[in-house]
Amino acid sequence: MNIADKAGYAATLGIRELSHNFSPAPSFVTINPTFSCNLKCKMCNYWKIRQKEELCAVKWKKAISELKAWLGYFHLSICGGEPLLRPDIEEIIAFASGNKLMINLMTNGTLLNNSRINSLQESGLTSVTISIDSGRKEFHDSLRGAAGTYDKVKEAIKDLRKTKMKIFLSSILIDPSPYSMRILLDMSKETDGIYFQPLMVRMPTQHPGDKKFCARLPEKRQAAEAIEILLKERSIGKIRNSLGQIRSMRRYYVEGIKEFPMLSCSSAHNLSISPKGDMYSCFFMGKIGNIGNGIKKSFMSDLGKKMRKDISTCKKSCIIMNCNYPENIGDRIRRFASIAH
Ligand code: SF4
Ligand code: SF4
Repeated sequence: MNIADKAGYAATLGIRELSHNFSPAPSFVTINPTFSCNLKCKMCNYWKIRQKEELCAVKWKKAISELKAWLGYFHLSICGGEPLLRPDIEEIIAFASGNKLMINLMTNGTLLNNSRINSLQESGLTSVTISIDSGRKEFHDSLRGAAGTYDKVKEAIKDLRKTKMKIFLSSILIDPSPYSMRILLDMSKETDGIYFQPLMVRMPTQHPGDKKFCARLPEKRQAAEAIEILLKERSIGKIRNSLGQIRSMRRYYVEGIKEFPMLSCSSAHNLSISPKGDMYSCFFMGKIGNIGNGIKKSFMSDLGKKMRKDISTCKKSCIIMNCNYPENIGDRIRRFASIAH
């Protein structure tokens, strides 16, 4: 990305922030080309779902064109399921890259061999985020439901370091032993940063409103120790979470706080698109519409407006997740600087 594009990004994001109350266009766009996954993680429901309906690459490219025409520069996140299960993911990335977008791919890392890494780089991918949930190999593999996943992540980091793509780690705070935290923080030194994600015991599946409980919070004393490490290391290490978010995590894990009346959920700024094109800001509130009916039109519809109004008064614990936490302007600049080349 050249200097003019970076300036364009910064200006567009700044204007979007300032005008959000009048023109609530999304700041964060996530597409989920598939919900299929090659792993069976204990804290996730996606792999239990057998829905196979997925938009083809042509429809994803059309959606990206529509978004570009509406939003200008924006940061595109590609998630799943496991997006590398789609053989045409490079085609979608290349199209987005041709539209001068910054693109991040979120993966469990197990399908990242050298040839796949090369084709991702050639397609113009900006950054890769790999999920790793414990510094302890056996614990990570048991959470992921398959042996060898921890070693594959380490190998993928080594191979990605030979490329120009940025590397991030994403870790759900589910194994807060100080030993595990130290290893994760050491591992993050080989990358451009690590994001810790609070564990939500009620995670949405692709059927919003599903109330399945799929994981338990760790013991409070251990969680407190782990969060102290995060607070101490944040200023000197590669931790990308804001200070406010880590403090909120402490209240959630240690004090058992379930609502955050002082925070304002930023999911109204999010647009997430499911494999079949359904559009969401908050998964718990249900879908806004489908991209087949026009992305801008659906987002700005009466239903979209009502959802954003409901979001503005909602204070549930999922407000402290990375995608929903209301960052201040300093944190946003810090995040932008970390992802821009
Ligand atoms: S790798 Fe991700 S999508 Fe796949 S089962 Fe695990 S948490 Fe779910
Ligand atoms: S806090 Fe935000 S993400 Fe959570 S249910 Fe409310 S609006 Fe949705």
